[in-house]
Amino acid sequence: MENFVFHNPTKLIFGKGQLSALRTELADYGQNVLLVYGGGSIKRNGIYDRVMAILREMGKNVYELPGVEPNPRLSTVNKGIEICKRENIDFLLAVGGGSVIDCTKAIAIGARYDGDVWDIIMRRVNATSALPLGTVLTHAATGSEMNNISVITNWETKDKVGWSSPHVYPKFSILDPTHTFTVPKEQTVYGIVDMMSHVLEQYFSKSPNTPVLERFCESILRTIVETAPKLMEDLTNYEYRETIMYCGTLALNGLLAMGMAGDWGTHRIEHAVSAVYDIPHGGGLAILFPNWMKYALDEDEDVSRFTQLAIRVFDVDPAGKSDREVALEGIERLRAFWDSLGAPSRLADYGIDDSKLELMAEKSMIKGEFGRFKRMTKTDVLEVLRMSL
Ligand code: NAP
Ligand code: FE
Repeated sequence: MENFVFHNPTKLIFGKGQLSALRTELADYGQNVLLVYGGGSIKRNGIYDRVMAILREMGKNVYELPGVEPNPRLSTVNKGIEICKRENIDFLLAVGGGSVIDCTKAIAIGARYDGDVWDIIMRRVNATSALPLGTVLTHAATGSEMNNISVITNWETKDKVGWSSPHVYPKFSILDPTHTFTVPKEQTVYGIVDMMSHVLEQYFSKSPNTPVLERFCESILRTIVETAPKLMEDLTNYEYRETIMYCGTLALNGLLAMGMAGDWGTHRIEHAVSAVYDIPHGGGLAILFPNWMKYALDEDEDVSRFTQLAIRVFDVDPAGKSDREVALEGIERLRAFWDSLGAPSRLADYGIDDSKLELMAEKSMIKGEFGRFKRMTKTDVLEVLRMSL
């Protein structure tokens, strides 16, 4: 294993009816609350009204930042920072999916910084504090509710950049699976692909002696493979939504990274694709991940992690097959599984052709070469993008 320190300070409040915990959680913070949310789903499904009722009952002064876009933009982050500074905001409450939470994290850190928040996102400046934030999660996908990561798009320069800071762990996150009942099927699938990709990014690791972590990964993946098809048929089933929500959080809250260094290359490539084309993150990952796997398999001497995935998660029978055949069958089963849920499988599904491959490959290199399992140069990225057309 790698040496590690595990410290995740986010208080997780999970289950039906847990929204009422907002009262106790917010009691510790000041009066001025900035409520951050997306394009209106929380108004349509009633979550907004329930949150506002609690905030009003507590006598909080509520300011609002609506309209956070999927793939949240720097311009929206800056609007939020301005409100925080102007109104002396004490606490940020994110109500939504990963985009709303990521945007809120960037606002929280930018509000305590006098310069341009993009400097922090680009790691040119080391931030030393942030406003406190909490979340009410409405979509199971990113794990942002229990990690210190945020992904922001600078639409002017067409850069989508992930960053992290120990100061932006949510103080608390409220996860009521019923809050995800209204997530449409297509979006539910994107969330499932994203959380599976988070597990896979960490599973493809060269860290030595990680048997428990590998089994944690396989257990989450198998659980999703068993549950997702049932959820597709019954989108308001509490138990299926509960299982998927729990998997999404465990996939990226630090648990799987305790002693195991992940690859994260496919996320870097996907960020470059959505920076240029603004496609849903989970959709991009569904297209790219199996192709990254095939590419990495061809380039690697040791195929054991691929065969292990195939056998332990996708029940591939290795009898009479070479290791490579087993590995490839595992990749095909992953692709078939995502296809069966209705996920996209080619860039063409989003109308993306080969005209901007070079630009996307260039954008993926914004912070240099990447990938711990398979080191990726610009040429490697171009190859994976070509395979994905
Ligand atoms: P999202 O972009 O937050 O939300 C996607 C869509 O789902 C929005 O249109 C939203 O509508 C809708 N939605 C959310 N909750 C809903 C509900 N309960 N009912 C109906 N519709 C609902 O999706 P996401 O996948 O959670 O976040 C994606 C972003 O997170 C990407 O930018 C990605 O790069 C990033 N990401 C972050 C991390 C991390 O660790 N921080 C990890 C992976 C990816 P409204 O806008 O109307 O609410
Ligand atoms: Fe992701």
